[in-house]
Amino acid sequence: VSRKKKEADTVLDISGATVGGARKQVIAGPCAVESEKQVFTVAKALKEQGIDLMRGGAYKPRTSPYDFQGLGEEGLKILRKAGDTFGLKVISEIVSPTDVEMAERYLDVIQIGARNMQNFELLKEVGSAKTPVLLKRGLSATMEEFLFAAEYIVSRGNHQVILCERGIRTYEKWTRNTLDISAVPILKNESHLPVVVDVTHSTGRRDILLPCAKAALAAGADGVMLEVHPNPSVALSDAKQQIDVSRFETFMKELRSSGLLE
Ligand code: PEP
Ligand code: MN
Repeated sequence: VSRKKKEADTVLDISGATVGGARKQVIAGPCAVESEKQVFTVAKALKEQGIDLMRGGAYKPRTSPYDFQGLGEEGLKILRKAGDTFGLKVISEIVSPTDVEMAERYLDVIQIGARNMQNFELLKEVGSAKTPVLLKRGLSATMEEFLFAAEYIVSRGNHQVILCERGIRTYEKWTRNTLDISAVPILKNESHLPVVVDVTHSTGRRDILLPCAKAALAAGADGVMLEVHPNPSVALSDAKQQIDVSRFETFMKELRSSGLLE
């Protein structure tokens, strides 16, 4: 994934939507797929904002085993249906190597979550797949560990990888994680792969999503990711950090008026 091996930026073509080229992308959607109604409500709002890529977790790697674990394959079906209905490409996390083949039937992008960045068997499996991969930085992963994780995928033949900075663990408690903005120019300098920043999981705070998204794009990120839910207060996961549709519309309007997003 090093620049030394390929000077030009990799531009991914995800079923017609580009990641890594001139068009900066906003990847949005609920933390977890909860129901068809919930996903369709968000999908409609995304489409109205000209979004290409929708996220939504079907396999949720929750810190507590007693929390909602996701709808599994049923969730992927809902996501695919919403994607087809509204013309959106869909992204979802897979946590088990044995689910990769099944997931390829539903998804445009397979997400590898922070907790699985060094699940090498999973990385090898998605490396042998044909579906593009969004790889999240591990909870306390160094740049070298992150890039070697990407190397696991690319070395198996799947060159379609997006790197995602999602905050790292530090002593700071006022944010959920610490957004490492310096990771963006470092990754862009070292690697030809596209880089996006998940502003929701890196901050865990709705009130600073916009300035963090601006910072990410200004630092050279190819896109940002954020969580949008029709009614965050009743969300089955990450209720405190998701934003509702009206806040999302304001976010998009302000990000566009900053000139950092088309
Ligand atoms: C997610 O994006 O749904 C998620 C669980 O994030 P992370 O793996 O970065 O914690
Ligand atoms: Mn979440």
